[in-house]
Amino acid sequence: MATNKKIAKKDIGNILSQWSQQFTVFVPSKDEGVTKMAEWDGKDTSFLEWYRNTVVPPKANFLPNMEEMFSFRKDEEGYQLKTPPDADKQLIFGIRPCDAKALAILDMTFEDAYEDPYYLGRRQNGLLVGLGCTNPCDSCFCTSLGISPTESEDVDLMLIDIGDEFSIEGVTKKGKELIAATDGLEEAIEVDITKAREAKEKAYNRVTRKLNTEGIKDKLLACFENEDFWKRTAAKCVSCGICTLLCPTCYCFDISDELVGKEGTRFRSWDSCGFSLYTKMPMENPREEKWRRLRQKVCHKYEFYPMNFDVIACTGCGRCIRLCPVNWDITQALESVSIQAEKQAV
Ligand code: SF4
Ligand code: SF4
Repeated sequence: MATNKKIAKKDIGNILSQWSQQFTVFVPSKDEGVTKMAEWDGKDTSFLEWYRNTVVPPKANFLPNMEEMFSFRKDEEGYQLKTPPDADKQLIFGIRPCDAKALAILDMTFEDAYEDPYYLGRRQNGLLVGLGCTNPCDSCFCTSLGISPTESEDVDLMLIDIGDEFSIEGVTKKGKELIAATDGLEEAIEVDITKAREAKEKAYNRVTRKLNTEGIKDKLLACFENEDFWKRTAAKCVSCGICTLLCPTCYCFDISDELVGKEGTRFRSWDSCGFSLYTKMPMENPREEKWRRLRQKVCHKYEFYPMNFDVIACTGCGRCIRLCPVNWDITQALESVSIQAEKQAV
């Protein structure tokens, strides 16, 4: 299945330059201390030394935290609309398998009852170059969600660190075509393939945090009405919204108009079901208390999404654990759900 090539790490800039001729290339970058996928400057490849995963997930490259949907002007003939130009062809270099899976999960929502042209336009024009995650964080638990840190069907190409070189595997037709059109790649030989296999096994075993997801949908259903349980579970949360805004599978958004005289612009921006003001504009927030909002976040990922799309909408990327200011931990919360469901069953 795989098209195996390799490239010396010192030559990564060379292939990024070639790809820049066809795509806007995004690489792991630091923006005032916050890591995210940002446009490559044409020379810096130092991210290879520090990159583990980005704070801002690559969903931001497809569903920006703020985007213009269209602008409008009212004249004697009515409203005149102007839509933004089509999405650039973007290549995301270094996406981790968990975040690529998150995009596949988001696709299900944005391709569902209503096809979202903004998100889908960027996805259709995008190419994902995966970089196997050989040094996962303590908070990562991707393997419990059936995701390998180094293998993925959701990227176009996958690179694996094999020492001074990366092995390169073509995954999709688009990825294999890109490999064929790229100069300077060498054929991977048997020893490189063995090194890549060993690196993958090692990486898999480094993901030590585990979560038992068996029957989790039914366990959540069993605990849903248990107000005391959810109040205890949500006690230390301060409703900052970080765990949802920076979750790669969360997609809540708000829409607002900026109007000056007879002209205006409609924007879409990230929102969070963790905020008390969420949905206040079109209606009342049905989840005024914090415990209801936190229950919604957990149930949406582990109960409602599996009911709608037959997949858990969490990839075990661990961001919500790493970034929560009060150390609220979704794996602990779900373990408590399992214990509570068992207690209720006797
Ligand atoms: S990051 Fe932590 S404190 Fe903030 S909303 Fe999420 S659980 Fe609550
Ligand atoms: S819920 Fe947490 S671990 Fe799961 S995908 Fe979102 S940020 Fe990652």
